[in-house]
Amino acid sequence: MAIIESYRMEDYLDLSEEELDRRISTAKEAMGDRLLILGHHYQQDDVIKFADFRGDSLKLSQEAARSQREFIVFCGVHFMAETADIVTGDAQKVILPDLTAGCSMADMADLYNVERAWKDITNIAGEANILPVTYVNSTADLKAFCGKKDGVVCTSSIAEKVIKWALDRTDKVFFFPDEHLGRNSAFKLGIPEDEIIVWHRDAPLGGNSENAIKKAKIILWNGFCSVHMLFLPKHVEYFRERYPGIKIIVHPECRREVVAISDLCGSTEYIIKTVKAAPPDTVWAVGTEINLVNRLRKEQPDKTIFFLSPTVCLCSTMYRIDPQHLCWVLENLVAGKVVNQVIVPDEEKRWAKIALERMLTL
Ligand code: SF4
Repeated sequence: MAIIESYRMEDYLDLSEEELDRRISTAKEAMGDRLLILGHHYQQDDVIKFADFRGDSLKLSQEAARSQREFIVFCGVHFMAETADIVTGDAQKVILPDLTAGCSMADMADLYNVERAWKDITNIAGEANILPVTYVNSTADLKAFCGKKDGVVCTSSIAEKVIKWALDRTDKVFFFPDEHLGRNSAFKLGIPEDEIIVWHRDAPLGGNSENAIKKAKIILWNGFCSVHMLFLPKHVEYFRERYPGIKIIVHPECRREVVAISDLCGSTEYIIKTVKAAPPDTVWAVGTEINLVNRLRKEQPDKTIFFLSPTVCLCSTMYRIDPQHLCWVLENLVAGKVVNQVIVPDEEKRWAKIALERMLTL
């Protein structure tokens, strides 16, 4: 494709909603089957309406690989675009409409500090006795770290299974970056609380004694999702008091106290499937990102669906992907220019893929 012309992002900021809609549709049509647009469930309606597929991060990356389309525009956050680049072919290019769309949880664990913690832990516990497990919401270099250390990636839907797989092979699991997904999964496996410790990234030995590290089965990095942390036990109690018979369903990134008193807990895909499959006239309070909950409410008018918090729990980084950025990257593609491509270096990609493939065999 010859480079003809490129467009400047600032020229898109004042366009009307109608004009953006028209230009995005035109650009999408012009790219035809060379292009695939992916929309994570937490994206706003104005963006997700252009997606060829909706889903969670891994499902979307797998759709991208299957499609073999040349250009993958990932409406999500940075680690998702990295995951898509890891699993897609060499001829495919992954584009994130706004490169500042990160994930605050993924940013809480960086390779330098994880490697330092790993050194401290393995000095005490021995490297043969521990495996690293990273949530898919992590940077590509951490996935590669797990690949190199015989570890594995997990999604929220199979975290429990992955931790069990690891504990069948070794004594301990070092789980990052989400403390809450790790704790909720360990709890489901029946691991006693006194065998779960938290690694505070700024404290010597993560704030633990040598004995605690020796005794621990699960060592949790103290990362969290700022969106899911906003749900509190009092919100569950509020809905239970006012709506007897209500079902409370939450994401496993929520704190343990919330999960413990909810009826159901699972990934975004699980939440959507469960609520969709429920009988009409049932009443639900859902603890996950607000765009997903609002969409579920619109698509399931025969049910009463509440958002499980009085405050707006919006993923502000996902929100950076707006129609302006989408239009800008698409019109650049039509003009023959790839902007905001996300590229994972080859060596990192190779090891990260190994860690992802270990998970897929489960
Ligand atoms: S909802 Fe939380 S975990 Fe998901 S992308 Fe946003 S900050 Fe990250």
